Amino acid sequence: EQPILEVRNLRKHFNLGDGKILKAVDGVNFAINKGETFGLVGESGCGKSTAGRTIIRLYEATDGEVLFNGKDIRKLEGKQRQQLYRNMQMVYQDPYASLNPRMTVGNIIAEGLDIHGLASGKKRRERVSELLNDVGLNEEHASRFPHEFSGGQRQRIGIARALAIEPQFIIADEPISALDVSVQAQVVNLFKKLQREHGLTYLFIAHDLAMVKHISDRIGVMYLGKLAEVAPSEQLYAKPLHPYTQSLLSAIPIPDPQLQRKRERIILKGEIPSPLNPPSGCPFRTRCPFAMDVCAQVMPEFKEVEPGHFVACHLHT
Ligand code: SF4
Ligand code: MG
Repeated sequence: EQPILEVRNLRKHFNLGDGKILKAVDGVNFAINKGETFGLVGESGCGKSTAGRTIIRLYEATDGEVLFNGKDIRKLEGKQRQQLYRNMQMVYQDPYASLNPRMTVGNIIAEGLDIHGLASGKKRRERVSELLNDVGLNEEHASRFPHEFSGGQRQRIGIARALAIEPQFIIADEPISALDVSVQAQVVNLFKKLQREHGLTYLFIAHDLAMVKHISDRIGVMYLGKLAEVAPSEQLYAKPLHPYTQSLLSAIPIPDPQLQRKRERIILKGEIPSPLNPPSGCPFRTRCPFAMDVCAQVMPEFKEVEPGHFVACHLHT
C-alpha cells in the first residue's frame, strides 16, 4: 500500500546572511502509512518543527520531495493544491499564542469551514457543536473567548479547529509540551480517540521520547537536522541502535528492574553543537561515547539494518 506521506531527502536551509547558512533540515527521509502515528523526536533546535512546517508548506523546501498520497505537493496548483490544504492540518505547540484572542471559540473553529466555503448558518453552528463535543467541550463554549479557557482546553480548541474540514493528516507540533503534566495524558488520549473515530494519520512532534511512547506506531529520532534512527516504537524502546537514541532512553526510568539493569545510564558530554557549525562526519560525534576516527571523516549512511529499522551510525554498517 502507498504511504500517505513520503518525505524524500528533504532539506530546509535558511540563509542568515554574512555567508551563514542554517541547515535546519538536511536530508531527511521517512514515510508515514495511512492511519499511523509517526513520532518525530529530538532536542530543541534539531529541526523537527522546521521539518513539520516544510512538509505542510509553511516553508518552501530548499531541496527534496514531499509526496502526499503519491503526489509531489510542490507541483500542485489551483484546485489540487487547495484540496491538499484541506487534507493536511496543523496543531500548534502553544495553545495560548495560536488562538486569536479577539475571536470567539466558535469562529476560531469554523475558520476552515468559512475559508473553504463548506458550511454556513445552521449547518455551520451544528458542525461547531459537533466538533466541540468531539474534543470534550460543549456548544455553550462556542460564544466564549480563548482567555476563558485553561491550557488543556485551548489545545482542545486548536484540535477542533484542525478537525473542522475533515483532514486525513494532522501535523501536531509539540502539542503537549506547553501543558501541565497532569493534562498531557488527557490530550494524548484525545488524539488517540480522534484517530480511531476519524481514521486520522499523525505526524506527532515532541522533544522527548517519553511523550510519544503511548501514541506512536513508529518513531524517528532527529539530531542536528538529520535523522539518527527510525524504527517501530517497540523496537526502538527495546533495542535502540543509535548511541543518541540510547542516551535519550537511558534518561527515562523504566519500571522493569531487569531492563533497568541492562540499560546503563549514558551521560552525554558537552552541549548540542550549533547547527550553524555542525561537526564534520557524524553530527553526533562530539558527544558520542563510542566515536571512532572514521566518525569525524565520514557521515554515516542512513541504512535499513533490519526490516523497518533505519540507523545512521558507523557501528551498524
Ligand atoms: Fe557515534 Fe560514530 Fe555512530 Fe556517530 S557514527 S553515533 S560518532 S559511533
Ligand atoms: Mg519546535
